[in-house]
Amino acid sequence: MHVTVDEDLCCGAGQCALAAPEVFAQREDRTVMLLQPAPQEQHRDAVLDAVGSCPKGAITLSDAAPVPFADAAGEAPAAPPA
Ligand code: SF4
Repeated sequence: MHVTVDEDLCCGAGQCALAAPEVFAQREDRTVMLLQPAPQEQHRDAVLDAVGSCPKGAITLSDAAPVPFADAAGEAPAAPPA
């Protein structure tokens, strides 16, 4: 399970931190802070509650493997040897 948040969408409503405090918190300006981008399965129901209760649709839950970040040169990491 992989969780992402779009901080540009976040309005600081705090519903995510109430629904899943092990996964989400709020910064001093009340915007979301993602504590666990890959939470344990036991938190799935709470994360789903957070996804459903976020008024901005800023939270995404995926079971797909995360896409690796590109490095500073814009290159994605090389695939591991087969
Ligand atoms: S519920 Fe959504 S809008 Fe509210 S703090 Fe969390 S991510 Fe931001």
